[in-house]
Amino acid sequence: MTDWPNDARAAVAFTFDFDAEEVWIGEDPANADRPGILSQGTYGAKVAVPLVLELLRRREVRASFFIPGRVAERHPGRVEEIAAAGHEIAHHGYTHTSPTKLSREEEEAELVKGREVLEGFGVEVRGYRSPSWDFSDHTLSLLETHGFAYSSNLMDDIRPYRHDGSSLVEVPIQWILDDAPHFWFDPSTWTKKISTVEEVRSIWEHEVLGIVDLGGAAILTCHPQIIARPGRVGFLEEFIAFVQSLDEVWVATTGEIAELAS
Ligand SMILES: [Zn+2]
Repeated sequence: MTDWPNDARAAVAFTFDFDAEEVWIGEDPANADRPGILSQGTYGAKVAVPLVLELLRRREVRASFFIPGRVAERHPGRVEEIAAAGHEIAHHGYTHTSPTKLSREEEEAELVKGREVLEGFGVEVRGYRSPSWDFSDHTLSLLETHGFAYSSNLMDDIRPYRHDGSSLVEVPIQWILDDAPHFWFDPSTWTKKISTVEEVRSIWEHEVLGIVDLGGAAILTCHPQIIARPGRVGFLEEFIAFVQSLDEVWVATTGEIAELAS
């Protein structure tokens, strides 16, 4: 059992994968020339991130933002605002490409370039979340070689742990606490229903309460372009308030949670 600070029973982190246009280009490189498709990601930078930052400020929460290097290059002002608000900034690829689609050399180049871009904003980048949460055979050793403190990619636990024979900490996630499976919609998924916030509220509250009961760490993964649609952003704020109302829950960044297991 992890010992949480301040006599807390459990930890919760609010994390945001600021994918903007890159997630669409990652899905299909031809999307780079499709302004309509890309505009779904542009909403993330143009409208959604300011809404998320404002509600985090109101709720006095520090969150973790996982940002692809190319998003930071395209929207530097937004990254400056995220950093200025005191949130953690972590690595989410240079492009939004799964490591499983890259050679070892390409993966290493993405790791180095992505971190270089983010550290250009004057922040220390200690965590890595792969685009798609997928690992290649090389990911763990590359993260260790390049001195990353933690990964937030695997689904095999509800508490942070150290990878065998490594100083690298894993901060586990799960699709159930991700907004994308519930809300994601694109033209290739016409038959998929978009969930209501009531359904997602129920799923998330049950999962968080279950993790709290077991003394674990609940890592919520949201995407500004998905969670900060006008009909959902109020729900996100209510959900954060719900977590803050729970007794003995430590709300922290993923980096702070990782430190406890290091
Ligand atoms: Zn992503």
